[in-house]
Amino acid sequence: MEEKSIFEMILNREIESEIIYEDKEIFAINDINPVAPIHVLVIPKKKIRTINDVSKDDAMLIGRMVLTAQKLAENLNIDESGYRLLWNTNKDAMQTIFHIHLHLIGGTQLKAI
Ligand code: 5GP
Repeated sequence: MEEKSIFEMILNREIESEIIYEDKEIFAINDINPVAPIHVLVIPKKKIRTINDVSKDDAMLIGRMVLTAQKLAENLNIDESGYRLLWNTNKDAMQTIFHIHLHLIGGTQLKAI
């Protein structure tokens, strides 16, 4: 069996990290190394290695992840000021954890990309 991802270990409480949101399919944590005042990771409980591995069957899950990020942005009061959602995929994007996660970044003026 493939090794557990850090996120699976966090979900199983094998690694300490405050879970700031959780439902049946999705959970969210604060990034340990934030790049902005708000940097949340929205993570599916189902381990999918990269965005390349997302299938049609996951379409609803991906949509729910975006809606979760939207709700968290509202709760964190950055919905109007603005935020960035991003997925890193593989080497050139410097993906480091191979269990997909949506970065929710905001709380400051971000640089243009
Ligand atoms: P990636 O580079 O794969 O898109 O993003 C992985 C993110 O996970 C990084 O921003 C990194 O700071 C964060 N991260 C890595 N290990 C941990 C951890 O143990 N706890 C938390 N909360 N975040 C982590």
